[in-house]
Amino acid sequence: MSAPVRVRFAPSPTGNLHVGGARTALFNWLFARHHGGVFVLRIEDTDLERSQAAYTQAILDGLKWLGLDWDEGPEVGGAHGPYFQTQREGLYRAAVERLLAEGKLYHCFCSGETLEAMRKDQAERKVAIKYDGRCRGLPREEVERRIAAGEKFVLRLRCPDGISVEWEDITKGKLTFTSDLLDDLVVVKSDGMPTYNFAVVIDDVGMQITHVIRGEDHISNTPKQILLYRALEAPVPRFAHIPMILGKDRARLSKRHGATSVIEYEKMGFDPEAFRNYLALLGWSPEDHTREILSREQLFAEFSLDRVSSHGAIFDLDKLTWMNAEYLKRFTPEVLLARLRPWLAKIPGFPGGYSDAQLAKMAGLYRERVKTYDEIVANAGWFFSAPQEYDAKGLEKAGKIAGARDLLGRLIGRFEAQAGFEEGPLEALVRGFAEAEGRKFGDVVHLCRLGLSGRTATPGLFEVMAVLGRDESLARLRRFLTVCPA
Ligand code: GLU
Repeated sequence: MSAPVRVRFAPSPTGNLHVGGARTALFNWLFARHHGGVFVLRIEDTDLERSQAAYTQAILDGLKWLGLDWDEGPEVGGAHGPYFQTQREGLYRAAVERLLAEGKLYHCFCSGETLEAMRKDQAERKVAIKYDGRCRGLPREEVERRIAAGEKFVLRLRCPDGISVEWEDITKGKLTFTSDLLDDLVVVKSDGMPTYNFAVVIDDVGMQITHVIRGEDHISNTPKQILLYRALEAPVPRFAHIPMILGKDRARLSKRHGATSVIEYEKMGFDPEAFRNYLALLGWSPEDHTREILSREQLFAEFSLDRVSSHGAIFDLDKLTWMNAEYLKRFTPEVLLARLRPWLAKIPGFPGGYSDAQLAKMAGLYRERVKTYDEIVANAGWFFSAPQEYDAKGLEKAGKIAGARDLLGRLIGRFEAQAGFEEGPLEALVRGFAEAEGRKFGDVVHLCRLGLSGRTATPGLFEVMAVLGRDESLARLRRFLTVCPA
């Protein structure tokens, strides 16, 4: 039986969770869930200057917003921790001691200037630019003497000449690197800190990672990491390097293309489920690629690395916005209200005495009309505070309706005499009224809408009135009567 699937997402907390990182996390999560495996979250915080606890928190928050849960990692713990690299120094040190004792590492005292001169010379001679291994054979006594004298050194891995490293990448196919491209890689820097490549391998071995799924920008690190697995005599995981996310101009996605942090999309009013669905399709597609709206369960069932494309995936805000609107349309008013509540809470006057049933109905009125949550906030404020002003164009139009004020006054009288306040009877009332008065239905609706909302466009008038309720609707109309053009 093959080992249970264990994958990891290993962000460096040097910024917010960005779209590319979120997509890498998502693919790992989906792969783990598809195989009933384990999804590990590991924080790679060894870059002490750039790492910040606030970014770690922002990354966790971003993952949670997307609905991604991890089985091992910060906050949840697990049997292979710690899950912060800064807390794993003892493990790196133990591995260094082992590899030193086995003669697989050596001390290199070459200074920056020496390395620079080496590179220049190699460039002039048109040979491969790489560390030439000049410290490989230093006698032990010399090494000890130079360390004792306080000379700075790094530790390098012996990388035999003439070898090649090859692996069958799940998404890219067979990849081969020869030793011309591989030099004796530094595993411990002169400040005593492990390098990224070394720490990653020690962690992936220690955490028994079976599949490394990450951006293709890491391809050049992989042969170095494979050499480390070999040195450690540890099983090499499978690798899947996933394509970069590109802007519409096919350049790598960057600030230049717009928002790159997940939190910015949250702030723009995207639904996390829709955003996650959209991310899943950035580089992956289900077998029937015409299907685009996929639930969490469908993604779990259908996700496979074989269907990850090897080319860049284009991030298209219009497509994301379309998908978000599709999600909003599919939500029941109750689900929509639950998602919308934090957004509605930003509206002055919320919840304004409305019951949950009324709020759900109100949310439902916007379902087909908006594409993002912030559009609802921008458009629905008048439900919670009666209009203080009326749209100028709306007033102008009211002014062209002959005897608008008297007309509205008579209509208010009819509403007052109306027993219930449901949309069907209200519509029948207004239609009958317009006919009896010899007026255009649209003109009567316009006066009511302007009086109730201060606006010229709202969801359907009678549904709006049913949500506002009898008392609020009448109060608003009576107030408008005082300013309505005669
Ligand atoms: N900390 C690395 C990054 O954020 C992780 C790379 C990897 O997955 O190995 O790019």
